[in-house]
Amino acid sequence: MAEWHDQADVVIVGGGMVGLTLASALKHSGLRVIVIERSEPSVRYSLGRDCRVSAIVYGNIQILQGLGAWSHLDAHAAPLQQMRVWDDQHAGGIRFDADEIGQPALGYLVENSRLQAALQLSLHDGDGVECWCPAEIEHVAWDADAVRLRLKDGRHIATPLIVGADGGRSWLREQAGIDCFQRDYAQKGIVATVRPQLPHRNIACQRFLPTGPLAMLPMTDNLCSIVWSNMNEQAEALMAMDDAAFLLALNNAFGPLLGEIVEAGERAAFPLKARLARHLVRPRLVLIGDAAHTVHPLAGLGVNLGIRDAMVLAQEIVDAQRFDEDWGDMTVLRRYMKQRLPDVLSVMGGMEAFHRLFTADIPGLHVLRGVGMRAVGNSGAIKQMLMRNSTGLSLPVPKQITVTRRG
Ligand SMILES: Cc1cc2nc3c(=O)[nH]c(=O)nc-3n(C[C@H](O)[C@H](O)[C@H](O)COP(=O)(O)OP(=O)(O)OC[C@H]3O[C@@H](n4cnc5c(N)ncnc54)[C@H](O)[C@@H]3O)c2cc1C
Repeated sequence: MAEWHDQADVVIVGGGMVGLTLASALKHSGLRVIVIERSEPSVRYSLGRDCRVSAIVYGNIQILQGLGAWSHLDAHAAPLQQMRVWDDQHAGGIRFDADEIGQPALGYLVENSRLQAALQLSLHDGDGVECWCPAEIEHVAWDADAVRLRLKDGRHIATPLIVGADGGRSWLREQAGIDCFQRDYAQKGIVATVRPQLPHRNIACQRFLPTGPLAMLPMTDNLCSIVWSNMNEQAEALMAMDDAAFLLALNNAFGPLLGEIVEAGERAAFPLKARLARHLVRPRLVLIGDAAHTVHPLAGLGVNLGIRDAMVLAQEIVDAQRFDEDWGDMTVLRRYMKQRLPDVLSVMGGMEAFHRLFTADIPGLHVLRGVGMRAVGNSGAIKQMLMRNSTGLSLPVPKQITVTRRG
C-alpha cells in the first residue's frame, strides 16, 4: 500500500485563469489548497501583446477587485464603453452603452497571461495556497473518503476534493470517465493584435459576416484585438497568407469604421467547439471553467462563466467548512451544481441561438434579424435586461470569502 505523504484540503488541477480564481478565492479560508499546473506560462505575442485576450464583464471585474487581482491589472486593461453589433447585410444593428446601465464600462479587455499573472500576485505567501508548477498528475484514484494522487515527480497527495480546471480538453474529466455533449462549429477563431488608423474610442465592434462574426476589441495604446471566426478551410487560407494579404482581407471584411487597419501582429487560430460535460460533479470531483463547459467566443463569455463557477464553488467549500460538512460530498457539490447550471445553460443556449440566427442561410432571415435588432435597440427595458445579464450585473457579487479553519 502506498504511503500518502501529503494531505491537501483541495487540489485544483490547472492553474489557468479559472483555477487561479478559485485558488485566490480560497486564500483566506485557512484551507490548504494545492494548484497543479502542467506548464510554465507560455505567451504568444502579437504586436508585443499576448494574442489571447478576454473581455471581462463588469460584474466579474468587481470579483477580481475583491480578490486583490485587479490592482495588478488595471493599467493594462482597456475599458469597453460601447459595443456595436451589426449584420453584414446591413439589415440592422444595435449599440450597447455603459451609460445605459449606469456603469463606467461594460467590461474591460485584458490579456489572458496578464490576468493569470495578476491572480498569481493576489496569492500571498502563507495564505495556504501552493502552486506546484510545472507538475503533472500521473495517476488518480477515487476512494470513498479521499482522492489519491501520484504525481509524475513521485509525490503523493490525498485530498477530500479534486477540482478539474484543466481546460476544454480536461485530462481529469477523461480520467473520471465523464464525456461531453459536443458541437463542432467546423470553425476556427483567428486572433491577432492589430493597429487601426483611427482612434477606437473604447468601442468594441462585432460584424456578422455570412462565414462567422468578426470582432474588433479595443486595447490600450489604441491597439485592437481581433477574433475572426471562419469556416475551417477559409481560416486555414487566412492563416497561410502573408501579412499584406491578410491585412487586405481583414480590411475588406471589417470595412472602414476605424480607417485602414495598418498593421497586424502574429496570428493564432483556435478550433471552435461548444462542450458541456455530462456531469459537472461526481463524489469528490468537480469540474469548473472550460473543463466543464466551452462556449463559442461570439459573446466573449467563456472565462466569465468560469470566474463565476470558481466563486460559487469557493463559497460552497467555505460554507461546508463552517458547518462541519465534507466538501467533497455530493450534498455540497450538488448545491454548487444547482447554482451554476442555469447560468451555464442560458449562456450556451443563447450562443447557439445567436450562432444559428447569424449563420443559417435561410431566405428572408436577414430581414427578421434586422427587425429583431431594431426592436431590441428601441426597447430600453429589453436592452437593459440583456446588458445587465451579459455583464453579470444581474447576478449577486459573491462576498469576500473569509472563514476560519474548523477544529
Ligand atoms: C478565440 C477565443 C476568444 C475568446 N475570448 C473570450 C472573451 O473575450 N471573454 C471570455 O470570457 N472568454 C473568451 N474565450 C474563452 C476563454 O479563453 C476560456 O473560457 C478560458 O481560457 C477558460 O479558462 P480555464 O482556466 O477554464 O481553461 P484554460 O485557459 O484552458 O486553462 C487550463 C489550464 O490547465 C492547465 N492544464 C491542462 N491540462 C493539465 C493537466 N493535465 N495537469 C495540470 N495542468 C493542466 C493548462 O496548462 C492551463 O494553464 C475565448 C476563447 C477563444 C478560443
